[in-house]
Amino acid sequence: MQSSRKVDSHDKIQLNPSHSSRLDINHSALFQGKVLLDGLLERLRDGESVVVAEGYIFEFERRGYLTAGSFVPEVIIEHPELVKSLHEEFVHAGSDVVLAFTYYAHREKLRLIGRENDLERMNMEALRIAREVADDTGTLMAGNICNSTIYKKGDDASTAEVKAMFKEQVEWAVKGGADFIVGETFGEYGEAALALEAIKKHGNGLPAVITLQPTICMDTQDGINIGEACRMLEEGGADVVGLNCGRGPVTIIETLKCVRRACKVCGIAIPDREEKKAFPLELLKCLSSRDEIRTFAQEAKAAGATYIGLCCGGAPHTLRIVADVLGKNPPANKYAPQMHKHFIFGDESKFQDYYTKDVKSKIVTNA
Ligand SMILES: [Zn+2]
Repeated sequence: MQSSRKVDSHDKIQLNPSHSSRLDINHSALFQGKVLLDGLLERLRDGESVVVAEGYIFEFERRGYLTAGSFVPEVIIEHPELVKSLHEEFVHAGSDVVLAFTYYAHREKLRLIGRENDLERMNMEALRIAREVADDTGTLMAGNICNSTIYKKGDDASTAEVKAMFKEQVEWAVKGGADFIVGETFGEYGEAALALEAIKKHGNGLPAVITLQPTICMDTQDGINIGEACRMLEEGGADVVGLNCGRGPVTIIETLKCVRRACKVCGIAIPDREEKKAFPLELLKCLSSRDEIRTFAQEAKAAGATYIGLCCGGAPHTLRIVADVLGKNPPANKYAPQMHKHFIFGDESKFQDYYTKDVKSKIVTNA
């Protein structure tokens, strides 16, 4: 991958003094003369943009391997080869991160479908698959926790249960070799703060990426301005903060600017949808166009976001556009559109007038 480069151990030690276990691994690898990969923080510090592919839940539902409603990623243990393949497709399209598919693989969701006994196995398998793809492709692997669906502000019992859920998933992410941990799609600042706390406490020093889901205007669901909430998360030790899901590429940009003004490091991943009323079964009719994704990526970049991706509805062909805007050159660029080669819409000098003029005019005018 173009994002890898040689680094010296001094570099690593200065940047991640708390990452003792990974430091040992990196030092050992350096000693053996291998090319080392920069971690998330080094990449961002060096001004490199990081592209992250998400949206696994909706993609597997669309493909027929995941149930809408409960939205539990059972596909991890029922068809692990498909999960691996989708990770590879996203890396091929430009993702710098392999996000372990542990979104909604948490205790509450597994309890909901009567598979609580599979909880640890599902998490460890997802992490194993993601680690394998990241190692094979020279990308970063991230652990993933998300909204618990049982958080209730001010409720001690709920808080204790959410903390326990986050703790076990964070510990599994560490055990599974994650390079950093993403806590995402929190509607409430309070729950996002609990996720950050769990990563800081149980994450063995791994970097934390925390994103809020801006479903209502400029405030979190517990009534805090989103920019202020992100600032507090940053002050609380989050390495990257930002927005993820809940809004489409057009409406999320203004909120992003608010976050950017409040924070030093702004991250973002977005859904491919504009109409909230379409959630969750009719999202496909709201997929963003290629042009909309390109515009989004350009505006997010201009706003200063350095960690950019796509969420629900994201697919390799749109992620490739994000990667392109951020100056990457993923393998999938080999297959980027070359419309000048199209027999109707392409270069008129290369094709028959019948197609480039007569047929084209009929298609365009719908005559
Ligand atoms: Zn999403």
